Amino acid sequence: MADTPVPLLDLTAQYRAHRQELDEAVARVVESQYFVLGPEVEGLEQEMARYLDVPHAVGVASGTDALLLPLLALDPRPGDEVIVPAFTFFATAGAVWNAGFRPVFCDVDPHTFNVTAETLEAARTPRTRAAIPVHLFGQMAPMGEITAWAESHGITLVEDAAQAVGARQRAPDGTPVMAGAVAPVSAFSFFPTKNLGAFGDGGMVTARDGELAERVAKLRVHGGRQMYHHDMVGTNSRLDALQAAVLRVKLRYLDGWADGRRANACAYEGRLAEVAEVLTPVVAEGNYHVYNQYTIRTRRRDELRAHLADRGIGSGVYYPVPLHLQACFAELGVGEGRLPVSEQLCREVLSLPIFPELGEDRLARVADAIRGFFGT
Ligand SMILES: *Cc1c(COP(=O)(O)O)cnc(C)c1O
Repeated sequence: MADTPVPLLDLTAQYRAHRQELDEAVARVVESQYFVLGPEVEGLEQEMARYLDVPHAVGVASGTDALLLPLLALDPRPGDEVIVPAFTFFATAGAVWNAGFRPVFCDVDPHTFNVTAETLEAARTPRTRAAIPVHLFGQMAPMGEITAWAESHGITLVEDAAQAVGARQRAPDGTPVMAGAVAPVSAFSFFPTKNLGAFGDGGMVTARDGELAERVAKLRVHGGRQMYHHDMVGTNSRLDALQAAVLRVKLRYLDGWADGRRANACAYEGRLAEVAEVLTPVVAEGNYHVYNQYTIRTRRRDELRAHLADRGIGSGVYYPVPLHLQACFAELGVGEGRLPVSEQLCREVLSLPIFPELGEDRLARVADAIRGFFGT
């Protein structure tokens, strides 16, 4: 009998496990007919702020807007630069561009896939206003050294925590800090495939800086807190109540789901340890990785991916093209070879199924298929 396929991600398992609570939350909003912002969104903002131990949280329409609005709040002047990693999801750089900043790409650490103070410093110029450390795949960038670097140069940090809700790390003084609670302002995404996923698009800005939070809260409703009075030009980027109600249910289970992802990562680590051609994810000292993606490296990535697909096993390439080589950024003039780690990662990375409901049997099939491919 042929094995059933193993999808890269199956969201139906999570829904089935919590269907009653989720359906009740949706029904509550429908009954109230209060669909945009309002008590559900305020409830989620408070619960997220408490969960992350951060003073301000502002629900917005997407993770992309959760980056865009804080950048607009920084009031870009022509020529101002924002440093972003070349190895990340497009939105990180797209938001910088759309806010009116010039994106300046930096390289990443080959083991953690994240920016470091050193890779950021290589991209700094006198025009650098801000930098966006991305906590890629669910592991935090080294915020202690990055914060020290930013403060010494008067650079504002915006954390892109879209893939890292629930991730944490030990700060230099030993205290634990959550992703999205370190920088003056941070962005989260509630896109369904993120670890805290809505039933559609959604996002949140969190902030330690009250003034930035206030400006973002205005920008999401056309630049005015009082209706029909506008002291800045904003946009419509409101979080809707249905999404907030769903997310309030899911937030209660988030840490448990992270445990499931971490257990799967640990199982892969054991089963793939002897495969010399595969590099499994490296977790930096003091980091608590929440594995939005479980991403391995191998020189034979495309062949391995086809081999897995032949056996009904889903995998993903995040990301195939570094941002400095995207057609839309050609005018920035960063040619091939300039950010070699990002370029190499784009050729070698492969993300495997890691969702919490995957289970030991299916995980073993994925690992066995990889071992079979490499003949180990
Ligand atoms: C998903 C994601 C975003 C954008 O979030 P959306 O909700 O899809 O707009 C931004 N940055 C990173 C790193 C992401 O993974």
